[in-house]
Amino acid sequence: MGRIIAVANQKGGVGKTTTAINLSSCLAAKEQKVLAIDMDPQGNMTSGLGVEKDNVENTVYDLIIGKAGIEDVLCREVIENLDVLPTNIDLSAAEIEMIGVENKEYILKGEVAKIRKSYDYVIIDCPPSLNMLTINAMTTADSVLVPIQCEYYALEGLSQLIHTIELVQERLNENLKMEGVVFTMYDARTNLSLQVVENVKDNLEQTIYKTIIPRNIRLAEAPSYGMPINLYDPKSSGAESYMLLADEVIHKGEEE
Ligand code: ADP
Ligand code: MG
Repeated sequence: MGRIIAVANQKGGVGKTTTAINLSSCLAAKEQKVLAIDMDPQGNMTSGLGVEKDNVENTVYDLIIGKAGIEDVLCREVIENLDVLPTNIDLSAAEIEMIGVENKEYILKGEVAKIRKSYDYVIIDCPPSLNMLTINAMTTADSVLVPIQCEYYALEGLSQLIHTIELVQERLNENLKMEGVVFTMYDARTNLSLQVVENVKDNLEQTIYKTIIPRNIRLAEAPSYGMPINLYDPKSSGAESYMLLADEVIHKGEEE
């Protein structure tokens, strides 16, 4: 059975979407069958993988409110080996629509269960908050991958996130694991990045991925072309590092 990984951190701008897009695409490039699920109403994962988010018939919103089934929302083979559940700003209304719905924490899980056997990996991009969309991602997932930006306030909010993961484990999804922490936007020219990495290593019990994602302008450019980094600029440091991260994720899965 495939692994479902939620990419989460309630801080905005830490590299969640960039990691979700490029990990999905690099896993697919390594012959893994991947489903990318966009749970952020901004829809940046959707457009970053080349799907025109405002021209799709159904989105994750329709799935969440029960208007469409998962097969009708799927965009198939957007890239070789990669399917997408697309999202746009409509999803921002889902939070309200879920009020009072029975088992609202498990809507996504119920739908993904219907198709998960078709995939080696399901990667879920979460919004920058600990809301019901994030909870739906966490009840669906086997593990949570946390991108941490190499900046001074890196650890801020992390204890809250870990607490949320523990609450979900206790009450909603006892199988949920902490996949690990990935450092993003590492700047080799500054001491600060190095200090942040050392400091987090000293203070965090969680698994930390060996692969560190460097700050690389190509990673910031690629989404405007609707391309993941391994297609936009395969020789860039960003592409190389996300390929290494995909290797690490695959090997970690084999050990378990
Ligand atoms: P989040 O999803 O956590 O809000 P994003 O992935 O959208 O964060 O990243 C925030 C901004 O930083 C985006 O403009 C993105 O293109 C840029 N960015 C992310 N990772 C890198 C990186 N490694 N190097 C350069 N720019 C990056
Ligand atoms: Mg994002």
